Amino acid sequence: APARCSNPSGLIGDSSCCDYETVSKLNVDFSSKLHEVVDMPFFRYFKVNLYKPCPFWDNAGLCMNRDCSVETMDKENVPEKWRSHHLGKVSMPTNPLFQSRPAKLSIKDQEFCVPDVDSDEVYVDLKDNPERFTGYSGPSAAMVWKAIYEENCFDVSREMTAGCHYCETERQKLKERQEHPSAEHNQVKEESNILVPPEPAPIENSKPSREQMNEIFSKVPKGKGDLQQLIQGIAKDGPEESCLEKRVYYRLISGLHTSISIHICDEWFNQTTGEWGPNLDCFISRVGIHPERLENIYFDYAVVLRAMTKISDYLAGYEFCTGDESVDKNVKKVVTELVDLVKKCPPTFDEKLLFQDTQDEGKRLKNQFRDHFRNITRIMDCVGCEKCRLWGKIQTTGLGTALKVLFSYDDASLKGDKAEGVLSRSEIVALVNTFNRLSESISAIERFGVMYQERLERE
Ligand code: FAD
Repeated sequence: APARCSNPSGLIGDSSCCDYETVSKLNVDFSSKLHEVVDMPFFRYFKVNLYKPCPFWDNAGLCMNRDCSVETMDKENVPEKWRSHHLGKVSMPTNPLFQSRPAKLSIKDQEFCVPDVDSDEVYVDLKDNPERFTGYSGPSAAMVWKAIYEENCFDVSREMTAGCHYCETERQKLKERQEHPSAEHNQVKEESNILVPPEPAPIENSKPSREQMNEIFSKVPKGKGDLQQLIQGIAKDGPEESCLEKRVYYRLISGLHTSISIHICDEWFNQTTGEWGPNLDCFISRVGIHPERLENIYFDYAVVLRAMTKISDYLAGYEFCTGDESVDKNVKKVVTELVDLVKKCPPTFDEKLLFQDTQDEGKRLKNQFRDHFRNITRIMDCVGCEKCRLWGKIQTTGLGTALKVLFSYDDASLKGDKAEGVLSRSEIVALVNTFNRLSESISAIERFGVMYQERLERE
């Protein structure tokens, strides 16, 4: 397939109501303002737990490259006010409509990501730990991507997933469990909502044996073939046959994957020269020759921008409290300027078109969508490279926050006093940084396009 030398055009589709050109144009305004915002301590210092064990499989492949490591902050450099554990916690909405939740789940129903709230958290200055090429690859990375894409199988008990090989297997397992119920397994499954990848199904907090590990790794794709087949299967299942929600889910993940690949190619370490810089061949092979991957990153941008629009009043009224008044004033000023830009945007995504099925079905699908997305944030603990894990957590939390804003709150509940405490500081920081990373990817696409043209002219 020819490399993509021009940007995609036309409508983005799947509930996004704008076109690719609009996103490109909007991004010109956004990119410099976003840079300014993420440069400020409020948005640079991120609280995270990088040391949670992988809940799905034994994480054997730890990346030992220097570029995989994360530099954490000394406690005394973290503003006093943020050291309090309250500020990192994910909060409940004040709207009573969203408060009637089954007591059993430890994670709140409106959360699309699993919050990191415990004593192993550290503060990281994102500027000291840029997302870029680290050398992390091979079976461990492939296994994580495989697990993430497999989460795209919704509702294993319904016909909707027919044709997707992985879902077929899951459906078979479900049938077997129904016919031969094993109390222990069902309980774990129900409480944790984990769709366990891959066989054998590990129970949360217990590690598979060495033999099981070998078996797991024997199933990890050695080349790209297996994984490619799986993803193509899911993608094929997507555009034509499946429901809108499933396509949206797939495009979100694929868009994130594209964005990560672009950052890797844009800040590539050339081992021969010892220099960092853009690698056009990397971009062409990972992104350029796959138009749909390119399109999906614009889709993510449209979704996140819509979430930013929805919380624009909330952000404008937010108290950016670092303990230093002049710093706080400055953050407020720059965020207000960002919000002003956001408010000028045309609608980029219509979340109301999703989950419109009959009331019960729509609700069920929404719950599945949320549970599967949560699982992705858990899968991040299986990423065997600290820096990739850090940015994986930020960006899945950022996307999860966008989904939470879009699907767990109506416009009215995000206005004025009602919105107080709807999002934690970590969620706001993750959302804005994710928006910035997507924005940087879109800018990089344009730069790679120019590089490609220049190469063509030279040849
Ligand atoms: P991968 O990117 O591993 O992709 C695997 C397969 O998925 C491909 O063969 C293809 O079939 C399919 N695929 C690829 N892109 C898409 C898409 N957009 N949509 C649909 N299908 C797709 N490495 C770094 O150097 N720096 C990082 O910061 C970094 N962060 C990471 C974060 C996470 C969460 C993960 C899981 C990995 C990260 N990695 C990072 C590793 C990196 O993403 C790749 O896995 C690695 O570079 C190997 O790339 P690859 O070409 O084999 O294909």
